[in-house]
Amino acid sequence: MENIETSGFAALGITGVLLKATENAGMTEPKPIQQQSIPAQIEGRDILGIAQTGSGKTAAFSLPILSKIIGLGDKRKGKTARALILAPTRELAVQIEETIRTLSKGSHVSTALILGGVSRLSQIKKMQPGVDVLIATPGRLTDLVRENCVDLSDTRWLVLDEADRMLDMGFINDVKRIAKATRKDRQTALFSATMPQEIASLATSLLRDPVRVEVAPQGTAAAEITQVVHPVVTKEKKRVLSGMLTDPSMASVIVFTRTKHGADAVTRNLERDGFVVAAIHGNKSQNARQRALNGFKDGSVRILVATDIAARGIDVVGISHVVNYDLPDEPESYVHRIGRTGRNGASGAAITLYDPGAENAKLKAVERVIRMKLPMKDAPAAMGPVPVGPSTERAESSSDRSDHRNRSKSGQRPGQKAGQKFGQRSGGERREGRSEAIWTNDGAGRDNQSAPQNKKPFRRKSRGGGSRAA
Ligand code: AMP
Repeated sequence: MENIETSGFAALGITGVLLKATENAGMTEPKPIQQQSIPAQIEGRDILGIAQTGSGKTAAFSLPILSKIIGLGDKRKGKTARALILAPTRELAVQIEETIRTLSKGSHVSTALILGGVSRLSQIKKMQPGVDVLIATPGRLTDLVRENCVDLSDTRWLVLDEADRMLDMGFINDVKRIAKATRKDRQTALFSATMPQEIASLATSLLRDPVRVEVAPQGTAAAEITQVVHPVVTKEKKRVLSGMLTDPSMASVIVFTRTKHGADAVTRNLERDGFVVAAIHGNKSQNARQRALNGFKDGSVRILVATDIAARGIDVVGISHVVNYDLPDEPESYVHRIGRTGRNGASGAAITLYDPGAENAKLKAVERVIRMKLPMKDAPAAMGPVPVGPSTERAESSSDRSDHRNRSKSGQRPGQKAGQKFGQRSGGERREGRSEAIWTNDGAGRDNQSAPQNKKPFRRKSRGGGSRAA
């Protein structure tokens, strides 16, 4: 009798080309979320996953779906998708598609991306023969389903990734409507970094007897990240930030700001002080966002200034520091922000600039969510206004950082295909503000930059007001 010992992903039920592609991608030992959820999904169970980006959740939900799809053969109905993965942001959707393509290399699994800010025509064409796995942001998908360009009636696997963020961005009604359009007997997985009441209710309505997997206690930050808070009055923050960034050990830094306006102001200030910096937020075109991200990934840009929503799902290896230029409005965002560093077991540091006069309640809220008191330290005295010349900055950025992160493999933007247009408009922020979408065609063409911004059915229901970060 043959006794074949299995380990790694094989022990979880992953076989054949998938196993090979997974190992070729450098994934030999499953991460905890993968160990906990892959066998259950292969058995056909629904999953409720509490996990952050960086935990390995993409492979955790993709591998079981891919393994089932491979067994189905390649006959598909036009415009349909066998599996649908919904993600809150375009950047995350692009990243998920890249992962799925890597993991399914050597198989005949087809994928498509549907997201705002790029040509819809190529997306409609791609859907015409039907696809195996569709990765989409809820806004554009809502449009294309409504216009009968996508048919979800044959979709038997549904994944909601970063569900809490979809809620924050006002996508929840779109998500419910999309889920309703899929097969009743579908298998569903819902992943969320946090579990507010609304997400718990959504999970109850969409999942059937789910297996609950949790890789880090809700709202806690990864242990490898050193956290510190520097009390700094708001008007001093720019100066302190520039001084801080003269430290060469801050090799690859994301600076988070609460608002788009704030991101622009911080970026201008850092540029003035001679730093090589790029910004990513909802008022930037898709083209500019992708360019900024690519520069940050390949190391040509050392500092990325980002708002919370635009930074969601950014998976850049080797980010040494996260700086919270200000505290977020939603305390959960702190966990997401600092989770950009300390990935894959690497160490990282999170520094928060905190104005005691203005941000006390926000700091307390963060500490409640992470269930710990953050260490408070004066900003180092060296943090003075030390201007750094652009040439110094550039020289340092290209040499010091080469071992800090994976450089991008090609100059091509992730997910960009020949003929795909980028940068027509930045649609994410408008999506973020919408909660009233309807299936029926109102003819407004929501992806058209010139469409009226305040057309009633798509206007945002206020969630407490204020200028939202994007
Ligand atoms: P995710 O949480 O899906 O964004 O994954 C975060 C990172 O972990 C990605 O860069 C993956 O390629 C990597 N990763 C996922 N699973 C594994 C694994 N089992 N072994 C090594 N790296 C992994």
